[in-house]
Amino acid sequence: MYKNIFVSQCGYLPGMQKQVTFRTDKPINFAVLKSNGACVYTGRADKKIKNAAAGETDFVGDFSALTKTGCYYITAEGLGESDTFTIGRNAFSDVFQKSMAFFYLQRCGHELPEASAGLYAHPACHTQTGYAYDKTESRDVTGGWHDAGDYGRYVGPGAMAVAQLLYALERNKALCNSYQSPEPQTSVLNDYLEELKYELDWMMKMQREDGALYHKATCASFCSFIMPEDEKGKMILSPVSVTATADFAAVCAMAVRFYKKYDKAYAKKLEQVSKKAYTALKDMTLPGGFKNPKGITTGEYGDPCDTDERYWAAAELYRTFGNEEYRYDFEKLARKKIYHGYGWVEMGSYGNLAYLGTGRPVDETLKQAISDSMIATADKLLKTSEADGYGTALTKKQYDWGSNLTVANNGLQLYDAWKLTGEQKYLDAAAAQLHYLLGRNAMGLCYVTGCGTDAIKHPHHRPSGFKGKAMPGMLSGGPCDWLADETIRSLFTKETAPAPAKCLIDMTGSYSTNEVTIYWNSALIQLLASVTE
Ligand SMILES: [Zn+2]
Repeated sequence: MYKNIFVSQCGYLPGMQKQVTFRTDKPINFAVLKSNGACVYTGRADKKIKNAAAGETDFVGDFSALTKTGCYYITAEGLGESDTFTIGRNAFSDVFQKSMAFFYLQRCGHELPEASAGLYAHPACHTQTGYAYDKTESRDVTGGWHDAGDYGRYVGPGAMAVAQLLYALERNKALCNSYQSPEPQTSVLNDYLEELKYELDWMMKMQREDGALYHKATCASFCSFIMPEDEKGKMILSPVSVTATADFAAVCAMAVRFYKKYDKAYAKKLEQVSKKAYTALKDMTLPGGFKNPKGITTGEYGDPCDTDERYWAAAELYRTFGNEEYRYDFEKLARKKIYHGYGWVEMGSYGNLAYLGTGRPVDETLKQAISDSMIATADKLLKTSEADGYGTALTKKQYDWGSNLTVANNGLQLYDAWKLTGEQKYLDAAAAQLHYLLGRNAMGLCYVTGCGTDAIKHPHHRPSGFKGKAMPGMLSGGPCDWLADETIRSLFTKETAPAPAKCLIDMTGSYSTNEVTIYWNSALIQLLASVTE
């Protein structure tokens, strides 16, 4: 590691807090220079941080006072130079556009023409008929986005991704409406809503007649590093699950609010399928925690607790449709426990936002309790973030599989506290989580492919691996100290492994540190849209 100075490589908005991390043992003077070498700002980094997660000592500098648009880099004696970065109103346009276009490039069952997809062009893939695992039926399940580095399609993660992208739109219309699909769209919808509809349409095909949702559509096992049209195995619909059904009910209810303005018939359809799923959900007594049935080895997305998914669904249906039944269901659950989380396992925050965001009658005491609990959650994150050399709200023990999702979701919870309190410290910390993902981290890498000056180049992603070039706009999973794949274990043992925040190898084989998923990208986009609203 030759770098000692770490910044957001995609830059900063002019008004944003701007921090820089120096990997050094003593306080240091630093200078911010324009790309032509002219010094425009000098400062001193004297906030010392013992960084256990990264196994180093850091000093943090602040150059928030520099607000002038331009292209810059930072130097400090003996530490070399930082990556270049911009300050400007459009600093994040490129990363937004690319990370959104990723969803288009992940489209399944759609021909990606070369004019739109370039190197990643391919004919329509996975056009096989889907067969229910229990052999009760077969049906068309074409469409949707490939989930990750593999070609599976999973309802829960898909619903989470769409929900996050809808929140991004709710908060930052200007940014989201600026999205231009690589393939010119022709519908009444803008390109952003058109892309989300592609996933919603597919999820509808995963709904059984009784309203419940098949958990996933995949072949029996993961294929090798081939292009998607070459995966020709039998398409199997894994058994229905509570989590898939609840997530689908919730996201379709949410989507009604966004689509009704453009397409009333589509909004009506969303309403019908959402309510149908919710009715089915109430009768579902399956134990929480989907388990792969015998013979299926693709991503399990098992989640032992389905209460938070039911919590989200009830709140979201109440917000959109207003039926007392939904309100009753949500309040009953929330009085027992207030849930938090923006992941696919813990989804309580979506429910909280729906309940707090509804203009309909609510239990004001409960509403206050939820709000207080959200702020208390953010306070813990804020404390961790302020004590970390890179401003991340991860503790040393949280560099787990997909740690970058946790980083983004921590940022969202900090943002929520800003919305609830108006206190700037929460917004600054939320933005710091974004800056971490974009280069101000212990690896000195922009974790989004094709963005910034020094990004991840070898993600675990089949089309990228097959073509030998990383598809742009993908957020890597991030450091994970579990040593959970053969590639990372071929380099390190428990004794020789780097510190948790540095446990990432930019190699295609390292799926535990360097895979990509649609719902890591959606978390990035929701965070980006939120902190730049
Ligand atoms: Zn496909």
